[in-house]
Amino acid sequence: MKLTLQSRSRIQLIDITAEVRKAVADNGIKSGACMIYVPHTTAGVTINENADPSVAVDILNALDRIIPEEGGYRHAEGNSPAHVKATLMGSSQTVAVENGRLVLGTWQGIFFCEFDGPRTRSVHLHFL
Ligand code: ZN
Repeated sequence: MKLTLQSRSRIQLIDITAEVRKAVADNGIKSGACMIYVPHTTAGVTINENADPSVAVDILNALDRIIPEEGGYRHAEGNSPAHVKATLMGSSQTVAVENGRLVLGTWQGIFFCEFDGPRTRSVHLHFL
């Protein structure tokens, strides 16, 4: 199945944990895993703390420091920082499902990572 997201900023971490939980429940998945796949080259998906929203801000700010806007990039489209950030985050995550629930730690959430927004994005969920 597919989630459709609308990012609101050029760079943004969007917490999609609730949507993924709902998909697991709605599809009656009891045991196995949920693969979360992002079919984009300037967006990704990661798992990290969603209790304190400062963590998501810190991740974005740290990526900006590591991958500056001006970096002597060759890609003519001008969005190379977004491509590099996306490849660091990765395009998929897999979360175990046990007893009908995502196996996430107390502080863990699933974040869609926008690096070249705002735009409409897709996230595919596959149950394994
Ligand atoms: Zn590009």
